[in-house]
Amino acid sequence: MLASKFHLNTLKEAPAEAEIISHQLMTRAGMIRKHAGGIYTYMPLALKTLRKVENIVREEMNRAGAIELLMPVVQPAELWMESGRWVQYGAELLRIKDRHQRDFVLQPTSEEVVTDIARNEIHSWRQLPVNFYHIQTKFRDERRPRFGLMRGREFTMKDAYSFDRDEASAQASYDAMYDAYVKIFSRLGLTFRAVAADTGSIGGDRSHEFQVIADTGEDLIVYNPDSQYAANIELADAPCLLASRAAPTEALREVATPGASKCEIVAEQLNVSLEKTVKAVVFMTTPKEGAGQLWLLMVRGDHEVNEVKIGKLPAFKEGYRMATEEEIMEYFGSKPGFLGPVKPIGQVHLLADRTVANMADFICGANREDYHYAGVNWGRDLPEPEVADLRNVVEGDPATDGPGRLAIQRGIEVGHVFFLGDKYSEKLKATFLNEQGKPEPLQMGCYGIGISRIMAAAIEQNHDAKGIIWPLAMAPFEVVICPIGLHKSEAVQQQAQQLYDTLRQDGIDVILDDRDVRPGVMFSEWELIGVPIRITIGDRGLKDGIVELQSRSWPEGQKVPVAEMLTRIK
Ligand code: ATP
Ligand code: MG
Ligand code: MG
Ligand code: MG
Repeated sequence: MLASKFHLNTLKEAPAEAEIISHQLMTRAGMIRKHAGGIYTYMPLALKTLRKVENIVREEMNRAGAIELLMPVVQPAELWMESGRWVQYGAELLRIKDRHQRDFVLQPTSEEVVTDIARNEIHSWRQLPVNFYHIQTKFRDERRPRFGLMRGREFTMKDAYSFDRDEASAQASYDAMYDAYVKIFSRLGLTFRAVAADTGSIGGDRSHEFQVIADTGEDLIVYNPDSQYAANIELADAPCLLASRAAPTEALREVATPGASKCEIVAEQLNVSLEKTVKAVVFMTTPKEGAGQLWLLMVRGDHEVNEVKIGKLPAFKEGYRMATEEEIMEYFGSKPGFLGPVKPIGQVHLLADRTVANMADFICGANREDYHYAGVNWGRDLPEPEVADLRNVVEGDPATDGPGRLAIQRGIEVGHVFFLGDKYSEKLKATFLNEQGKPEPLQMGCYGIGISRIMAAAIEQNHDAKGIIWPLAMAPFEVVICPIGLHKSEAVQQQAQQLYDTLRQDGIDVILDDRDVRPGVMFSEWELIGVPIRITIGDRGLKDGIVELQSRSWPEGQKVPVAEMLTRIK
């Protein structure tokens, strides 16, 4: 590519609304241009990177045996009504009408359509297992689209869906996807961690997120440095409990959400995950005395710790304080189904081994059937917790036999694998005939990767004061040739052209900057754009048969004989 024939347009300043570095740098580098909240054009530079990410994902999906197809962006509402998500999905689902007033959705994900395909295409156990995927535009009407491509409304996702005859085979499909994800994120050159996760609106049981580690990440991850254990702390849907001295249920509700009908609100929070087993609930205050904040930590699962949730109260109501161990025992201990015991960990108290449904009963004093969807997003409107506060609590006091020594990091969710079982196949009646000729529901899994989000995540992890430092695998160009005085020097022109031709023949993605710009301007532009390797060619070096090789991650350039340049680059 010749720079004069490409479209480059870098900016000195980032827009004021760009809060995080990837948004700032992608805008300044001319990679994205905004049209509305969360809706962007991928400019030519960004599209090159997007395609490279897509190709790596595609290669690894194909290698893992998944089959590519392309499902529609606009999907009929009927399928979403069949699955129940026409109602459940909430405001994130963009609903549209055609000229005949028929309802459609712009797809946020494709479980419904792919299950529709499966029920029509798959009849026999002989056709299984099968895994269909596509790389397609998604639309989610995010409440707060922000951070550029990190949380767009329109974005690009790879989503795959596996169909199996039984749970063991479905687990094998899940594991194959998990392994493919490890390969994908390794090839992309990202530092990441796979963590146990909640299943959100998709539902189901087993689930892992792939998180790119970055301080600006929206997710909090807890992990045990001594073991494989890692989990997402889900902030959004955490229920909140408070035990207070002799507090009647009414008072508890009042404290947890002042002025609101607590029963319904807590129930909405718990509804998300009523079936989960909670290993422990921890009540704790922040270390700041009288700060009036409360954390709830739930640890669930079959191993030591499986999932951790943290919720936060806006403030302690006047007259309330942290409950003591005895008070918690006294309050909850007499309740039927209470599994106790309470273990103190510093300022923290722990309720062991209970289900979320039990907990809901404790708080609401009602049967699960009575819980109503309150339509209140309590949790979501609260400020984010201070990581330092969490760290004090979670990492503190390793001497106890509480949740264990956990460390906290921030992460960006770039991939997610779910085990769905028959959640969709039951609803949409997608069955196959087993070896005995009996119909059985297909066992499903679904697997997403945020292709466009990966670009932003990579920048969060790889940048410096000058700009982006692309990992080679996803750089828009691998090499840029910067000739000095191209239009004045025959020698420079010849050498630049020769290097350019040879690199291209070798399959290297190279751009020759043949524009007539000052060296300083040219260098800082390419540093901002983040091309990993730069070759500078000037008359002065050429006299000695030397050009300059500069990696975006080295502090200084190196003088290299022209003849050696190619071997150095390869
Ligand atoms: P988040 O928790 O960030 O809202 P999610 O859990 O809703 O993401 P999934 O349904 O798991 O997302 O979708 C699969 C992948 O799609 C995510 O892991 C993420 O990388 C990507 N993704 C989801 N929402 C967005 C978005 N608004 N913009 C860009 N990428 C997204
Ligand atoms: Mg989401
Ligand atoms: Mg998520
Ligand atoms: Mg997810």
